[in-house]
Amino acid sequence: MSIPTENVGSLPRPATLQQAIAAYDAGTIGFDDLAAQQDAACKDSIERMEATGAPIVSDGEQRASSFATYPITDTLAGTGLADNLAGDGQYFAIFDDGHHRQLPRLTGGPFRYKTFASDYLSKSIPYATKPMKQAVIAPSMLSLLYPLDGSLDGYTREQFLSDLCDEAEKDIRQAFAAGAARVSIDFTEGRLASKNDPRNPWTGRHMLEQFIELNNRVIDRFSAQERVDIGVHTCPGGDMDSVHSLDVDYAELLPSMFQMNAGYFLMQLASEKDKERVYKLVGEHSRDDANGVPQVCFIGVIDPLNPTVETPEQVADDLVTASRYIPKERLGATDDCGFSPFSVDDKPKHGSPDFARDVAFQKITARVQGTEIANERLGL
Ligand SMILES: [Zn+2]
Repeated sequence: MSIPTENVGSLPRPATLQQAIAAYDAGTIGFDDLAAQQDAACKDSIERMEATGAPIVSDGEQRASSFATYPITDTLAGTGLADNLAGDGQYFAIFDDGHHRQLPRLTGGPFRYKTFASDYLSKSIPYATKPMKQAVIAPSMLSLLYPLDGSLDGYTREQFLSDLCDEAEKDIRQAFAAGAARVSIDFTEGRLASKNDPRNPWTGRHMLEQFIELNNRVIDRFSAQERVDIGVHTCPGGDMDSVHSLDVDYAELLPSMFQMNAGYFLMQLASEKDKERVYKLVGEHSRDDANGVPQVCFIGVIDPLNPTVETPEQVADDLVTASRYIPKERLGATDDCGFSPFSVDDKPKHGSPDFARDVAFQKITARVQGTEIANERLGL
């Protein structure tokens, strides 16, 4: 038995693809032209990720508008927005560098995904020779599409949440049916739920517990055997090389987060100030029996927001330290976040998205090699 290692999902989109997205929004190229660029970027992403030695790969989410909005819009600018949505919803997050990302707003029912993650995966999987993973968005994030206060005429919050859970379940089941070996649920709003940012009202509403409950409504629809391969990703955000909730203490999130009955967790940790304290919290709060599955804890050993490439030795040191607090059979290695969760991302600390792509593959290689070293040092 060795330490498993897995990425979160996204990679920076090549500059040419980001230009094609802008041209598509401007109406100067058609969807077929955009799709051709997306296909090429997915193929390149898979080939280069396989070349790192990673045992499981993704297509870098090169077709998705973002990790959160892929089910409901073709581009971040709102081209191809799904039915019953308007562009002017609440902030999802305000990042430390001052930029923000906004969600659409639900205007009525019913709520339906227009795109499922499997629609992308089925196009990408022929390019892969290794197992592929697929990330999906948590229903808790999309619950923010419904107005924070009051209710929509003819479509109650409970009707919406019921539709949302059905769509989120379908998203996961279809990803497995399309060939995903593993499916991880992006839950970046978990840590943000304890932020209490007066500029962003939902973050002050103590929504963490209802997020956990809602996500479990979906996760609990899967058998223990299925949940072994269903994960949850937590992070303090990662967009334009900036974060939204690194200042929120992990101690506020982890006891609740591990109440979700998922089989594994992909957790930002490389960029934490006091990693050892968090390893300890992870060891204390993760469960070896979450309704029939042990919770495998993948600790972040790579920081996708920092262009400095970690060494394999640093990665191995982190894993060996973590193994003092987290049982070895429930320890894994991951990146702190996707490398570009939003399709349009300049990667300013890297200088360009193309350079950031090169750096990302070097970082994944360091994670894979460092995990090997940790296996040897731990006798696994
Ligand atoms: Zn993330």
